[in-house]
Amino acid sequence: MRIALIAHDKKKADLLAFVQQNLEIFKKHDLYATGTTGSIINSHTKLHINLKKSGPMGGDQEIGSMVANGKLDMIFFFRDPLTAQPHEPDVSALLRLSDVYQIPLATNIETAKLFVEAVKK
Ligand code: PGA
Repeated sequence: MRIALIAHDKKKADLLAFVQQNLEIFKKHDLYATGTTGSIINSHTKLHINLKKSGPMGGDQEIGSMVANGKLDMIFFFRDPLTAQPHEPDVSALLRLSDVYQIPLATNIETAKLFVEAVKK
């Protein structure tokens, strides 16, 4: 599967921990990420992550473009619901496109756990 990993700043540690806990699963897939999220995962794991631009600099839109072009199968996007994001329009656009194209998108750890269970099968 082609999987995107994105986390807002206050959720990056959670996403990294989640990926580390599920390393054996993630290493079997093609991984993409927004710039900062992907760099953190790259530097703490042996996974190969294809990096897009940082989210606020267009990375969320790049991921959205992959969705629109049928190049992504699943998205883990750990959002921070308690902090205003300067690129909120881009975030909303990505969520919208995932609904337009029916791409599963997990926005929190509990949903992410269910996705991982589904991917294992
Ligand atoms: P980042 O982008 O991984 O470059 O921080 C994530 C985001 O805030 O959308």
